[in-house]
Amino acid sequence: MRAIAKTAAGPGLSLIETAVPQLGINDVLIRIKRTSICGTDVHIYNWDAWAEKTIKAPLIIGHEFVGEIVEVGQNVQGFVPGDLVDGEGHIVCGQCRNCLAGRRHLCKASRGVGVNRDGAFAEYLCLPASNAVHVDKSIPLDVLSCFDPLGNATHTALQWDLVGEDILITGAGPIGCMATAIARKSGARNIVVTDVNDQRLALAARMGATATVNVAHASLRDMQQQIKMKEGFDIGLEMSGNPAALREMIDNMAHGGRIALLGIMPESAAIDWNKVVFNMLTLRGIYGREMYETWYKMTALIQSGLDITPVITHRFPFTAFEEGFDLMRSGRSGKIILDWEN
Ligand code: NAD
Ligand code: ZN
Repeated sequence: MRAIAKTAAGPGLSLIETAVPQLGINDVLIRIKRTSICGTDVHIYNWDAWAEKTIKAPLIIGHEFVGEIVEVGQNVQGFVPGDLVDGEGHIVCGQCRNCLAGRRHLCKASRGVGVNRDGAFAEYLCLPASNAVHVDKSIPLDVLSCFDPLGNATHTALQWDLVGEDILITGAGPIGCMATAIARKSGARNIVVTDVNDQRLALAARMGATATVNVAHASLRDMQQQIKMKEGFDIGLEMSGNPAALREMIDNMAHGGRIALLGIMPESAAIDWNKVVFNMLTLRGIYGREMYETWYKMTALIQSGLDITPVITHRFPFTAFEEGFDLMRSGRSGKIILDWEN
C-alpha cells in the first residue's frame, strides 16, 4: 500500500510503498477514504522541537480520517466489512483508574494514532475495534474526516452551559471557527472571536461570531463597548496556543468566568495569577475528546444542522500531499482534505 510517512529524523514527509498492516484479533482493518491535515501533522512535517522529542521514524502519520472496514479480527463484535467508520485517535490503556471508571479521555497512558504508532495517511489503517466509531452515512465524507478536530471543538465548547452567555474565542483557526458555530447553535449570546489573520476572522464571522477583533491592530475592550457588554466574558475558549491571547482573555473575563484551554502553549507561557485569584476564574485544560460522549454529541449537532463545511477550504488527491502541507504552512487555508480513493 501507499502511505505518507516520516522516513527519517528531520523535516519533510515521503510517499512510501509499504506492507498492509497486520490485523490483530481485536483490530479492524480500514480502507481509508478521506483524511484531513491537522496542525500536529504540520509540526511533524516541520520537525520542530516537539516532533523531535516525540516522533520515532519510520512512522506513517495522520489521525483525522474516515474509511470503510475491510476485515475484522476474530474477537471483534459490532463491526463487519463494509461498515463506514471514523476513528478515535487516542488509544487508551484500559487498565488505569480513569479508564476503569469509564473516564477514558483522562487515561494517563494514551497513545496517539499517527504520533506514537502508525497512522491514517495510508491506503489501510489497522485500529483496535474499540477505537472505531460507526458514522451516519448521510454525512459527507469530507465532514466525517474532520470529526477528530470537530470533536476537540465540541468537547471544549460544551464544557459549560452556553445559553445566554457571552463567549470569547481566541484563535480563528479551523477549531476556533468550528467552536464558534457550536456556540452559536448552543444558544450563546455574544460570541467574540479574536485572531491576527483577517481571512480567518472573516470565516469566524460566517460561522456565527457576533463580532471579530484583529488583535494586531484593534482592542478587545473597545469591541466590548461597541456591542454593549459591560462585565466581561462569561466563558473563554482558548484556541490559539498563543500566551498573549490567553493573557488578553484573562484580562477580559467577568468575575467568576470560566476558561477552557485547548491551544497548546509554548513551555514558558506566563500569566498574572492574581487576576485568576481576585477575579475568581476557573481554568480547565482540555485534551482530545470524550470517549465516546463527544462523538455522540457532535454527530447529533451535525444531524441537527450544524454546518462546518465552510471550514473545509481545499481538497487534493493524497499523491499531491506536498501542496496541501505547503498551504497549511502558509496559514491561508482552513481544513485540507486528502482523497485516498482516486
Ligand atoms: P491553528 O494554528 O490553525 O489556529 C490558531 C489560530 O490562532 C491561528 O489562526 C492564529 O492566527 C491565531 N492566533 C495567533 N496569535 C493569536 C493571538 N495573539 N490572538 C488570537 N489568535 C491568535 O490551530 P487549530 O488547528 O485551529 O487548533 C487550535 C489550537 O488547538 C492549536 O494550538 C492546536 O495545537 C491546539 N489543539 C489542541 C488539542 C488538544 O487536544 N488540546 C487538539 C487539537 C488542537
Ligand atoms: Zn488508561
